[in-house]
This record gives sequence, C-alpha cells and structure tokens, in this order.
Amino acid sequence: MHGDTHPEALKVLQEVFGYDSFRGPQQAIIRHVIAGGDALVLMPTGGGKSLCYQIPALLREGTAIVVSPLIALMQDQVAALEQNGVRAAYLNSSLDYHEAVEVENRLRSGELDLLYVAPERLATARMQMLLEQTRIALFAIDEAHCVSQWGHDFRPEYRQLSQLHQRFPQVPRIALTATADVPTRGDIMEHLQLQEAALYNSGFDRPNIRYHIAENQGNAKEQLLRFIREHHDGEAGIVYCLSRRKVEETAAWLERQGLTALPYHAGLPPEQRQHHQTRFLREEGVVVVATIAFGMGIDKPDVRFVAHLNLPKSIEAYYQETGRAGRDGLPADAWMAYGLQDVITLRQMQQDSSAADHQKRIEQQKLDAMLGLCEIISCRRQALLHYFGDHLDAPCGNCDNCLTPPETWEATVAAQKALSCVYRTEQRFGVTYLVDVLLGKHNERITRFGHDRLSTFGIGKDLAASEWKALFRQLIASGFLSVDMEGHGGIKLTANAKPVLRGEQNLTLRKPSNKPSKAKTARRG
Ligand code: ADP
Ligand code: ZN
Repeated sequence: MHGDTHPEALKVLQEVFGYDSFRGPQQAIIRHVIAGGDALVLMPTGGGKSLCYQIPALLREGTAIVVSPLIALMQDQVAALEQNGVRAAYLNSSLDYHEAVEVENRLRSGELDLLYVAPERLATARMQMLLEQTRIALFAIDEAHCVSQWGHDFRPEYRQLSQLHQRFPQVPRIALTATADVPTRGDIMEHLQLQEAALYNSGFDRPNIRYHIAENQGNAKEQLLRFIREHHDGEAGIVYCLSRRKVEETAAWLERQGLTALPYHAGLPPEQRQHHQTRFLREEGVVVVATIAFGMGIDKPDVRFVAHLNLPKSIEAYYQETGRAGRDGLPADAWMAYGLQDVITLRQMQQDSSAADHQKRIEQQKLDAMLGLCEIISCRRQALLHYFGDHLDAPCGNCDNCLTPPETWEATVAAQKALSCVYRTEQRFGVTYLVDVLLGKHNERITRFGHDRLSTFGIGKDLAASEWKALFRQLIASGFLSVDMEGHGGIKLTANAKPVLRGEQNLTLRKPSNKPSKAKTARRG
C-alpha cells in the first residue's frame, strides 16, 4: 500500500524503537522526509506521529530541530528517546543558563540527533546564530495547528517559524497535527510555506472510541459515577472540568465514593502535579480529574475513558481531549454530560473575552459547531469527521445516537411559546424567570413587572420546568436565541427566530430525558 520497504528505516524502527512494523503511512512519510521532501502530516492522536520525524532524524546527517509548544511534552519525549539510546536534548525556559550552554555545546559539536525547542526560543538571535553553526537534518513542527488563528490553540510565536524556511531553504520540514479543520489546514500551509509539501492525511477517525453525549440531569457527577461503575470499574480515565474548584470538588467526591481520583490543575504545586501524573501512569485504575492543563503529551495507551463534566469550547478541543482515550486501539469511551448552564457560561465567557472581534467570531462559530454536535440526532462520528473534512459513508454504529436512536418530538408549538415569552418580556430575562412565566408561577418579581398579565403567562403548563429548560438550551444551542451580556445574561431573539414565530419553520428536536435526577443516587443510600 505505502510503497516498498525502506530497509534502513525498518532497521531503526526495530533496533532502536523495538517495534516490528510501521503503522499506516509512517513508512511513506519517513521515506519522503529522508529524501529531503517537506511534509504535512494529519494523523489522529495515538497514530504515531513522533516516529515520522524521529526516524529521519537518525537517518539524515545532522541534528533534527523539533519545535514543540509544551515543556512537559519535551521532557517526556527526550527521556523516552534517551532510554532508547538516542542522543536527544531540549532547550526551554526550564533550564538554567549553564544547562542551556551545555546543550548548545553538544549541538554545535554534532553530538545530538534531536533537539526539542520551544517556539519562542527558536526566534531569538542567539538561537538563529546557533542554527547557522549547526548541521540541521530537518525541522519538525509539532502541533502545527498552533500557527493558525482558525486553530483552537493559536500561538503567535508559531508565525515566526516561516523564517526557518527562508533562512534554511534546503532543510526539509515536517509539520504535524492531530486536529486541523479545513481552514486551519490552509493556514498551516500558508503560514509555514508548505504549499509544495506532500500531504499525508490519515483521516481523523478513532473507531475504537465510542462517543456519548448525555444531558446533564441536574447532577452530572452522579451520572458520571454511574457511568464509571457500570463500564469502567477499576480502569484508568480522565475527567475534564472547566474550573479548578470543580476539579478539586469532583476528585474529592469521587474519592469518597471509593474511586482513586486525583486532582490536576495549574494551581496545584508542581510536585503534587508531578506526583499525580506519575501515579496515573504507573498505577492501575487511577482516575485523574483535571482542567485542560492535563493530557497534552501524556502517552498512556490504556486510558479507557475520557469524561467531560463541562462542554469543551470547540470540536477540536473535544476531539483532542477525547483522543487521549484508547490509544492502544482497544475499546474506549468518550463520555460527556452537558446542560443549559454550560451553554450559558461558555457564551458568557466568550462575550466577556478580551479577544478582538474577529477572533470572537471565530470562537463563536467553533462553539456553535460544538453545540450542534451535542444536539444532533444522527451519528456523532459522521458529524465529527465531517467537521474535519473527512467522510464516513454510513452511520458508525458505535456512538450513542447510533446505538440508541434518540427520541424526537415536534417542538414547533412549544418553541413558539418560548420565543414569544422572550419577546413579551422584552428580551431582558434569564431562563429561570422565563420558565416561571410560562408555567404561570406567581412570585414577587413577576408581579412587580406585571408579567402575570401577559398572554404568555401560564401557557406552558403542558411541559415540566425541566423540559422547558431543555428546550431553551436547544433554542440557544441552535441559534434561535442568544444570551445578552450587556445586561445580566438576558435571553434575546436572533433573526433566526422569526420564521419559527411566524409559523414558516417547523422544529423537530431531541426529546429531553425527563427522568428525575434523584432516582440514580439510590444505590449508595
Ligand atoms: P501521536 O503523537 O500521533 O499521538 P505517538 O507518536 O505518541 O502518537 O505514538 C502513539 C503510541 O504508538 C506510542 O506509544 C508509540 O510508541 C506507539 N507507536 C508508534 N508507532 C508505532 C509502530 N509502528 N508500532 C507500534 N507502536 C507504535
Ligand atoms: Zn454513530
């Protein structure tokens, strides 16, 4: 499939790295780079990107310069390489002056096969001079999506990497990423001047990961515990939360339920973080509860589940985080609970952010796409892959929507009631208030505003409060309503709401699950 064997490369694979054979397109990529070609490699997490530059580094003369955004990742990679007898080092802010000078000397005297460098360091005059004095085997640019504002992790320092090609035009470059939608891909090619590079796209599918996106029924922690007990008792997993406080709370709570659950976030002392990471890697059945600070570059093949207690900001982030499950290719789960509050919080955070308008719009679109993925009633994997420009012919059979097709309901009339209630109350109130008006509740605020005299007062008694909340979530998620930040998070109509209000558009929505949230806690008494 991928051409003839490359005997030297195979020999290095077996003798240095201890693997029998290449995976997927690895050999083709390695051959191309050894021959001096540029490459853009799109390969899912766990696909084996590192070998694509590590083997050419050993087979081309000189030192490979690897650009990598994360210090922790560099240290791990260098340690792993050294264990295999490869001469590798890194230069980043964690080294003191003398350590850095020592690495520089090793580089100059040709004693290194690979040097990992942080992008901001590469742009310095000192580093440029050093590179001039070095025989460079190749440049590898890891996490290449960081060069793109379209990417979910833009790093301005990456923009300067185009200089590498200008200054060292004869040195081959290989850019790698596990997450790049189509515009991001275009940006990578443009900003890194890789228009002529060979594109190796192994697709984004992770068939062994089963996707579930559940509705937060008011107590996501308990839903999570039930999911772990039923499917992953005693197995390793990662639980992502948005805030440090929630990380600590959740870890402590899971511990009390008898799990081994360790917190991990940037606010913990470095020794404690290191300790928890080590336990996760070495012990069996450890669950790490973390902010997104955890996971980049952690190579633990048997993570059996990744859970999200909050909605990620983009499909890229979701894909990258869930991608840490099942790197060994065995069945693994990506599980998430999300609810109305997630939608509101993220929308709010976005509005409040200090980013430029143009950047805000991009973030907005990414969040919309993520919300779309949560609310769809068809195959999640097809939608996920479609987002990355991939195509899956048939529904996957390995996501919640495929396995248990969601029930839907004709929500047009209910949506009209909800939207008119927003309109009649002058687009100034939050969901809780709106639901009270729909249900015809008499309370002080409603009376004060005279909303008990509105035509929409009490027209929603046919649905429960939880069902109205779910409907509002869906209407916000699908862009019929927006959250106004100027005021106090009041809900507003968008232009999309008009056709629904006028009866020109029907809405079929996922049926909210109306199981009471109490039932689940019974088992622990
Ligand atoms: P990525 O950077 O694409 O997420 P890695 O380069 O970290 O992936 O590789 C993922 C895992 O697969 C690592 O444990 C790596 O050692 C292993 N691996 C890579 N290539 C091969 C191969 N050809 N045969 C067996 N294991 C491999
Ligand atoms: Zn599916």
